[in-house]
Amino acid sequence: MRHVDVLIVGGGPGGSSCAFGLRRRGIDCLVLDRDTFPRTKLCGGLVTQAAARALGLLPADYPHGWLWIDRFDFHFRRFTLPLPSPQISIRRCEFDAFLLARSAVEVIPHRVRSIERRHGRYVVDGTFSCDVLVGAGGTSCPVHRTFFRDRSRHERSRQITALEEEFPHEVRDRRCHFWFFDDGFPGYYWYIPKADGWINIGVGALAEPLKAKQDSIWRHFERLVERLRRRGLLAAGERRPGGYTYYLRADGPAPARDGIYLVGDAAGLATVDLGEGIGPAIESGLAAAEAIATGKAYRLDHIPRRSATNLALDLVRRRWLARRG
Ligand SMILES: Cc1cc2nc3c(=O)[nH]c(=O)nc-3n(C[C@H](O)[C@H](O)[C@H](O)COP(=O)(O)OP(=O)(O)OC[C@H]3O[C@@H](n4cnc5c(N)ncnc54)[C@H](O)[C@@H]3O)c2cc1C
Repeated sequence: MRHVDVLIVGGGPGGSSCAFGLRRRGIDCLVLDRDTFPRTKLCGGLVTQAAARALGLLPADYPHGWLWIDRFDFHFRRFTLPLPSPQISIRRCEFDAFLLARSAVEVIPHRVRSIERRHGRYVVDGTFSCDVLVGAGGTSCPVHRTFFRDRSRHERSRQITALEEEFPHEVRDRRCHFWFFDDGFPGYYWYIPKADGWINIGVGALAEPLKAKQDSIWRHFERLVERLRRRGLLAAGERRPGGYTYYLRADGPAPARDGIYLVGDAAGLATVDLGEGIGPAIESGLAAAEAIATGKAYRLDHIPRRSATNLALDLVRRRWLARRG
């Protein structure tokens, strides 16, 4: 059996940021992921500057497409609110593989099925053992499933269902567009340009109200496609979106017990307004590494609950930097 001090289940931004924080402090760790990287991850791929700063990540370090988004257009029926945008648009397949490689952690392709506590250690599938376990396996994380059933962070009322597709396409508009509450939809539609001739389009909504209305997320994806074609942003052709589900941030203390820490989507941390989870995954991964290394409490209260807070903070910061020249 292979033993490590810290075993991280999941190599997405939550797991790789935790590994980055641990390795920086010289702590022995290992990542298990059921996929081999680069892997597909359904996601709009908008990253806040705060998240990039937390990892000390600069555009010059990044070998793939990194697009500064100039502007967000938030559409509410006939009204449009344009906002200068401080976000970065990346492709998740590239970003996640890059973060994992940058953390210089060993990654073993392995789908975790069972975890048990044996003589004060955690044993995974009878093959790996560790003193500390980090659950970074996203919505279906086996660490969450095994040890946090009684205090699950995955509340039905906070469940998001999303459909999206990322594909090569002429980028006809470098702004991001978000359409809210279209035809009573309890969520929003998006159009997100990428670098190197790719775009990402999708729809995401709270699952419960959508089901209560007997509405279908597929219908809204079709409406989005029609809308983009009408605006000249999308060419004709069949679209094949994929679906995924995750959870908005719940109240309560940071999920940790007996040497186990949950980070990212496993902890249900996406922002409550726009459902952004990359930043919270990165920041919770770093926070878990800090708690493991120092023995201090695992805290998440510094991570904004709302994307609006991040947007406002970044805009104030940009103005301040511009004034200082
Ligand atoms: C359609 C859509 C659009 C989104 N758009 C945005 C956006 O624009 N901006 C934003 O900030 N957030 C967005 N999000 C949310 C964001 O994608 C997630 O919050 C983020 O990926 C969470 O990162 P994570 O590391 O916690 O989990 P993940 O990125 O899901 O990584 C979990 C990893 O665990 C592995 N794993 C799972 N189970 C096992 C197992 N049993 N054994 C081993 N490995 C396992 C998986 O293979 C995966 O690599 C979007 C989500 C969706 C669905």
